[in-house]
Amino acid sequence: MPQIFRVALDTPLRRLFDYLPPRSGTVPPAVGARVRVPFGRQRLVGVITGLADHSDVPAARLRPILEVLDATPVLDGGLGKLLHWAAEYYHHPLGEVLAGALPRALRLGASSVAREERWLLTEAGTVGATAGEPRRAPKQRALVEFLREHGAADATTLAARFGAWRDAARALSARGWIASAEVELERARPALTTVRSEGPELLPEQSSAVAAITASLDRFGAFVLHGITGSGKTEVYLRVIEQVLLAGRRALVLVPEIGLTPQLLERFRQRFAAPLAVLHSGLTDQERLSAWRDAFSGYARIVLGTRSAVFAPLPEPGVIVVDEEHDSSFKQHEGGFRYSARDLAVMRARGAGVPVVLGSATPALETLHNVQTARYRLLPLGRRATQARPPTLKLIDLRGHAVRGGLSTPAVLAIERHLADEGQVLVFLNRRGYAPTLLCTACGWIAPCHECDARLTVHLASGRLRCHHCGADLPLPPRCPQCGFAVKPVGQGTERVEETLGALFPAAAIARLDRDVVRRPGDAEGVMRRMSSGEARILVGTQMVTKGHDFPNVTLVVVLNADQGLFSTDFRAPERLAQTIVQVAGRAGRGSRAGEVLIQTEFPDHPLLTDLLARGYEGFARVALAERAQAAWPPFSRLAALRDSARTADAALAFLAQARGLARRPPSGVRLLGPVPAAMHKRAGRYHAQLLIESRERRALHAFLDEWLPQVEQLKSARAARWSLDVDPIELY
Ligand code: ADP
Ligand code: ZN
Ligand code: ZN
Repeated sequence: MPQIFRVALDTPLRRLFDYLPPRSGTVPPAVGARVRVPFGRQRLVGVITGLADHSDVPAARLRPILEVLDATPVLDGGLGKLLHWAAEYYHHPLGEVLAGALPRALRLGASSVAREERWLLTEAGTVGATAGEPRRAPKQRALVEFLREHGAADATTLAARFGAWRDAARALSARGWIASAEVELERARPALTTVRSEGPELLPEQSSAVAAITASLDRFGAFVLHGITGSGKTEVYLRVIEQVLLAGRRALVLVPEIGLTPQLLERFRQRFAAPLAVLHSGLTDQERLSAWRDAFSGYARIVLGTRSAVFAPLPEPGVIVVDEEHDSSFKQHEGGFRYSARDLAVMRARGAGVPVVLGSATPALETLHNVQTARYRLLPLGRRATQARPPTLKLIDLRGHAVRGGLSTPAVLAIERHLADEGQVLVFLNRRGYAPTLLCTACGWIAPCHECDARLTVHLASGRLRCHHCGADLPLPPRCPQCGFAVKPVGQGTERVEETLGALFPAAAIARLDRDVVRRPGDAEGVMRRMSSGEARILVGTQMVTKGHDFPNVTLVVVLNADQGLFSTDFRAPERLAQTIVQVAGRAGRGSRAGEVLIQTEFPDHPLLTDLLARGYEGFARVALAERAQAAWPPFSRLAALRDSARTADAALAFLAQARGLARRPPSGVRLLGPVPAAMHKRAGRYHAQLLIESRERRALHAFLDEWLPQVEQLKSARAARWSLDVDPIELY
């Protein structure tokens, strides 16, 4: 029996495919290398996952590998192991997991190494050149001369030197004087001492954090760097990475969103002379391939990227950093393969035997629980690195004050005061658009989305009604379509708050930051520049303003409405609200002046708010974790969610009910909850529902899923349903 190659293909089938070795003359592929194989009538690119000496497929039906695409495996041992683990843990087909870890261009068969075209003189050419030939073709002679002087040259160099050079090269090559070859692009590797500029002298707590992490550079350790915005976390990452680079290793840095943190990228560039590969969702396929190649070849010494960069190649890793580890963007919760990049970063570091640093001003409750149980080590940074004092937080009772356009009188007076003192003001509201509702005051009609259980949001400047859930986009009706009376926008969005502030403070320039303003990469930078230059005095924005950037002159932060989230059915809502408030509050007073934070609410006695104000995020987290323990929610139990959507409400529930029926007697310790319709039942024209699987024991949960899922897949209704499994879901219906 010949050697059999097991190949993972990008299909939803939970199995591998067997192939014979490529035809003789080709070097057989290694595990982790890509191959092109026949699949039915198609040709697909897959990854070798292993070798076997037996196949269950009859020998006559086995077909050989058509082409070996990689001499060096694109998935090295460490990354391969991580991806196998992820496929098992998230119960997702291996072929899709492996394909998802590679840039699109590589999935289509592009070379894993950058190549260039190099031209050189042949022997005949050298003889001719010495004789001053060819005399009658000056361009050809110049080309020959140039190659004699420089030995060889790549296409880019020749184009720069000669402009249109290809005709001359073709003529010379036809005479046999010059020849070309495709060779691997060689990039000069910078020296290992890569520090461009020195950082500031570290504060004692920063020093101990750096010392603790660097003492563990040769083994796995998970460190939680917990400090408010401005406490010097980034400086700690930079120092640790400096040590890693000096040791000849490489660093992987994961961030929530690169467009919003140009300052962070800039700090890495200023600090290190080492090449950086940057990976994020805004890249073209070609840019992504090129950044991936820089990481793969080892040219890049630091790889910085968003969620999927956790799968970037990183030869000789030295440390993995996850900045803002609590951020929900690290969780992929759409599409096929749903994973947590933060959790995978920890697994990757464990496999590689290197430290992982999880930094945040508001660590996730899961992360704090791992600290309490001594799996992770806490490194606190207590105060701000610069002189700035921590901001003071105050609640404004919306029931006791006049409110105009969402702004209470105390908030308006505070804004006036801070502007008069030359401060800048940040106004936070988690809702974009002009108003969340369009209402007819005569008959009570409210503009609905016909595809969702939701209202349409008024976008006044563009004259549109938009659904923020399905993307529906309609013209703003001038009158009520039901009774013909006038309609009016009700409630506040960032666009309207900007208008209200403009009327209240006509002398102050106002900037706005939300998804409507930021449409292309670079847009956010423009807004932030207006703020940091001091041209704009007030910034109105959504969640986007809570991330990463530094406005040293902001002295007042106003949270317009803290109440969304206080009464949500999702057990994670309080955590998210507390994180948002603390993160946005952290934008105040980062310069030399103390900041003030005002939080408007109709529920000033709500324990979440009072705890948070009295005891800070740590106090809130302690209470919240105790509540989770009592209710047996994660991290005190494990969850998986089987979800689906269908054209009718019945069909959505029917598939999940059948799936549940397959587990009439689940093993002890495993509970099935539901199925239930989603809180937003209808979305984008489909009905959504969910079945939760819960267990105190991770192992019991996964053993159950291993047995149950293949049966679920065999259900007839599974073929028609759009369903997915989400392990460790962070968004619950
Ligand atoms: P974080 O990442 O926690 O928000 P940073 O590392 O960005 O904090 O630090 C906040 C500011 O303080 C930055 O401008 C940084 O340059 C400065 N900084 C950090 N550490 C020190 C230090 N030890 N001495 C002086 N300035 C520092
Ligand atoms: Zn009406
Ligand atoms: Zn909709």
